[in-house]
Amino acid sequence: MTKTLDTVWNSCLEIIKDIVEWQHFKTWFEPIRPVELKTNILVIQVPSQFFYEYLEEHYVNLLAKTLRRVLGKDAQLEYRIMVDSGNHKNKPLTMDIPAHGYKTYSNNEMDFPLVINNPVKNPFVIPGLKKMQIDPQLNPIYTFDSYVEGDSNRVARRAGKTVAEKPGANSFNPLVIYGGVGLGKTHLAQAIGNEVKRVNANKVVLYVSSEKFINQFVDHSRNNAINDFIHFYQLIDVLIIDDVQFFNRAEKSQDAFFAIFNHLHQSGKQLILTSDKAPKDLEGVQERLLSRFRWGLSADLQVPDYETRIEILERKMKNDGLEMPKEVVKYLAYNINSNVRELEGALISLLAQSSLNRREIDLELAKKVLRNFVKTSSKEITIEAIQKMVCDYFDVAYDKLLQKTRKREIVQARQITMYLAKSFTKNSLKTIGEHFGGRDHTTVIHSCQTVKDLMDTDNVFRENVMELQQKVQLAAL
Ligand code: ADP
Ligand code: MG
Repeated sequence: MTKTLDTVWNSCLEIIKDIVEWQHFKTWFEPIRPVELKTNILVIQVPSQFFYEYLEEHYVNLLAKTLRRVLGKDAQLEYRIMVDSGNHKNKPLTMDIPAHGYKTYSNNEMDFPLVINNPVKNPFVIPGLKKMQIDPQLNPIYTFDSYVEGDSNRVARRAGKTVAEKPGANSFNPLVIYGGVGLGKTHLAQAIGNEVKRVNANKVVLYVSSEKFINQFVDHSRNNAINDFIHFYQLIDVLIIDDVQFFNRAEKSQDAFFAIFNHLHQSGKQLILTSDKAPKDLEGVQERLLSRFRWGLSADLQVPDYETRIEILERKMKNDGLEMPKEVVKYLAYNINSNVRELEGALISLLAQSSLNRREIDLELAKKVLRNFVKTSSKEITIEAIQKMVCDYFDVAYDKLLQKTRKREIVQARQITMYLAKSFTKNSLKTIGEHFGGRDHTTVIHSCQTVKDLMDTDNVFRENVMELQQKVQLAAL
């Protein structure tokens, strides 16, 4: 039986759906269109270059694996990127690119990944292998510069800076950074590593997750190479182990880590550990390790406050060369208060939606996207509440708003109120009109249009409306 384009892609989606979080599935997989099946090559159409890059960076392995399962082991993937969606005169313009990361994809994740030019398995048997050849495994984007300081992370961030300035020669050894998911542990730990390298490229820095550490350990114990493993780690000047809570499954790895820890600490080398819990609450980690964790400093990360969240978004946008209205930034920062990763996720989702729909980012789009992200409160704001806010804001008497006054300030205040009532309540135009001394729905339409026009042309007016929008939004939470 030959498989058709649609059945192939649908089978892929079935598999992917179970693996990827729903929100991500909606954002990154639903918009994909299967367009061609040439024997073993599946061509999928994606809406933009950005979308393609995102898939290549985050999902290419998943796509590869899935496609092989559905189409067989020679399956290949190609993207068709929508460059221009065309119009009635011009045909759409697209570009085909084979999936990239795909070719290099390998199932073998147990390879010893720590040494550049990989064939070197054991640093000690290769004469002349220099310590410098140890790749720190750091992501260069995780720096102190990109790590916004706030009350939520001040202690940890400053301790991190101290450690980066004088690795090993400070009282924060080990430095344990702990806190919930997405609060910036990995970023901060890597920022320390990057900073050490920046100041002194000769220092041997190594970042490793505890899971990878355990995997390598298991791999080396199978080959009777535990001593090599331990010796390798003893070469490091600044050792960063991320997510040590995962050690709870691994007694033998803990023994190895204990030996490494002692050696490094005694030799004045720096250890940086992260954990999702305070050391005292870590289960399944040997007491002798825990007591060593307490030798240094344990600093926690909290959820950043509203101002810090705004700054994080702005820093991120600046780094990526993005722009969006301040009101949208505020809206995201206000509504997403779980952790920074969610905040970034919402931003990415918003960008994707905007490029998919070829639409400017505005509050409306942000709301749409966020509906999928957080349980935005459903407290319905009333027309009366909006009227009261506008009256307070412009210092206008409530009854004036309802009367037929033609004074310019009052007319504008009234129009803005209608506009906000239209945007923030589910009331019909007719109902809104009735709340303003029995005006009819065409008046409401006209008011909304006038407000939109004025916002385009009059800066002060726009500022006023946006500030009011913000107030209404906050009241609706
Ligand atoms: P964790 O390791 O605690 O789960 P991460 O370090 O992976 O969290 O952080 C999640 C995301 O949030 C990362 O993209 C990181 O860059 C970003 N982030 C976290 N805290 C901050 C901060 N204070 N300033 C800027 N970005 C941050
Ligand atoms: Mg992390």
